[in-house]
Amino acid sequence: MRLDLTELKGNNTLLSAFSAAVTSGRVPHTWIIEGPDGSGKHTFASLFCRVMMCDGELRPCGECGNCKRAAAGHIDVHYIVPLKSDRKTVGVDEIRALREEAYINPTSARCKVYIVEDAETVTPAGQNALLKLAEEPPENVYFLLLTRNRHALLPTLISRAVCYSMEPLSYADAKAALGRVRGADDEKIETALRLSGGFVGTAKEFLKGETLASGISAAEKFLEALAANDEYALMTCFSSVSDSREKARSVLTAIAAAVAETIRVKSGMPDASKLPIGDAERKAASAVGFGTLAGVYERVTSAENDVAAYVNVNAALTELTINVAAARRENK
Ligand SMILES: [Zn+2]
Repeated sequence: MRLDLTELKGNNTLLSAFSAAVTSGRVPHTWIIEGPDGSGKHTFASLFCRVMMCDGELRPCGECGNCKRAAAGHIDVHYIVPLKSDRKTVGVDEIRALREEAYINPTSARCKVYIVEDAETVTPAGQNALLKLAEEPPENVYFLLLTRNRHALLPTLISRAVCYSMEPLSYADAKAALGRVRGADDEKIETALRLSGGFVGTAKEFLKGETLASGISAAEKFLEALAANDEYALMTCFSSVSDSREKARSVLTAIAAAVAETIRVKSGMPDASKLPIGDAERKAASAVGFGTLAGVYERVTSAENDVAAYVNVNAALTELTINVAAARRENK
């Protein structure tokens, strides 16, 4: 049996661990895969299912019944999706039902895979129920917990799982991957990558339609307001997106990436992806203190999670503005 994992670009740490596990026949039952939207969590989950279920010699072969079914919706692949019908969390009842079902043998493949999406939205009681499963996993059953933020999971659960963070591609690889997007020239690709923190899936979203323009202008405005300590300007950063969850999310993603980049510039850390540095980042890096930048980053990503998790958009953005302004006033 040989493996072909090239479908997921980059991410060598995760892929070599997975490959070693499959080859040795000892695949951990519980995996926590962390990364922002568009970072490849779902690509890995899909690859995981097909590799684990494939009957071919080169896995995934794409030809056998299990591969084909896994691509289209396999009876032994179960998705636990918290946001179904506007619900904010996955509760203990859903996980308990999953627990009972998990001990039933797979229907047609060698194993069953449960993919918990947005695992950070599983309630603590639900996570405890998951922990029981992770402690005594049924044979041939695997759990993939996909999350934007592993720190929102119980430490006991984390300790029972193998954890990996999705990594952005190198700038050259990401550029090559995005070169096929229609109407994307080098400059747009560069900007989209900068705004997405180097993650190709998010960059692709930015390259579509007006998302790129609104992301750039929001991120730049935000950094300028932060550098100038201008609370009014900070308030107006979000005025054009507070009516749309999708717009608010992509703007917050862009701002989080811009703040992360600013922190990198300030610390003089080498940038593995070698993305070009923008002017706004450079200015903010010289005007704003480290502690403040770190605090701002944490608040922006937490607002991003809130907006994704169906908290009222306007309320989340207002709270963010207040918190950022307060952090900036202290400027550590
Ligand atoms: Zn196959």
